[in-house]
Amino acid sequence: MSGVFWEPLPSRACLKSNPGGLLCSVKMDRVAATLTQEIRCSACGQITPRYAIVNCGSVEKGYRQLCSRCFNAEVVQLDGLDKFEHLNFKPVRLVDCTGQPHDFHFRTHLFGTGVALDAFELRNGDPAGYQFQMIADPEEDLLVLLGRLIEKIRRALSVKHLTDGELGLQIADHQLTRGTIAWDDAHDGHVPLLIIDGREITWEDFGRMLMTFEGWQFKLEIRDKSAEL
Ligand SMILES: [Zn+2]
Repeated sequence: MSGVFWEPLPSRACLKSNPGGLLCSVKMDRVAATLTQEIRCSACGQITPRYAIVNCGSVEKGYRQLCSRCFNAEVVQLDGLDKFEHLNFKPVRLVDCTGQPHDFHFRTHLFGTGVALDAFELRNGDPAGYQFQMIADPEEDLLVLLGRLIEKIRRALSVKHLTDGELGLQIADHQLTRGTIAWDDAHDGHVPLLIIDGREITWEDFGRMLMTFEGWQFKLEIRDKSAEL
């Protein structure tokens, strides 16, 4: 990756950063999201979902929008990863412990010393809801990695951390909560949005749920996206 800068395209959250009045903002968001959900890869010309596009390049040479396959091909060349073989995986539908189906999309990106395989649900064309990642050596068989990722997703879908009761959403009886820390547009990122059981939970709502346990202790552990919790 030497000398090359890359970054995923801005999320829909970033596209929202030019309000100019509420009605105007909502309309512009919808148009922007529709226009950019699919992008033509600068190298192979393939129409590609926005979530699989990487902005790649340098200040001197300019930037290009590359599909995962073309981006990985460039990393292979730069880092001499001859044994890496890119694969595009089709979406997979998995059912959680309440019978609710979840459609997972996949993205494979090399990052020099490793390969990251991401699985996520989509909302308005962007990753949302349940999100998982596995990191491996670039020489590892991607199909094996996919199998491990799906097993990880199955384990996560077999447990619900929140329950809907008379008092609204509450922390489940086993009193253990796992989730992802996400950006909350509504608060400009000053407080987190939590993704628990694939649902967006505001910081305030989570605080309300914690108040059921006023006076109790808690333990907070923060782990990398690819770690098993
Ligand atoms: Zn391409």
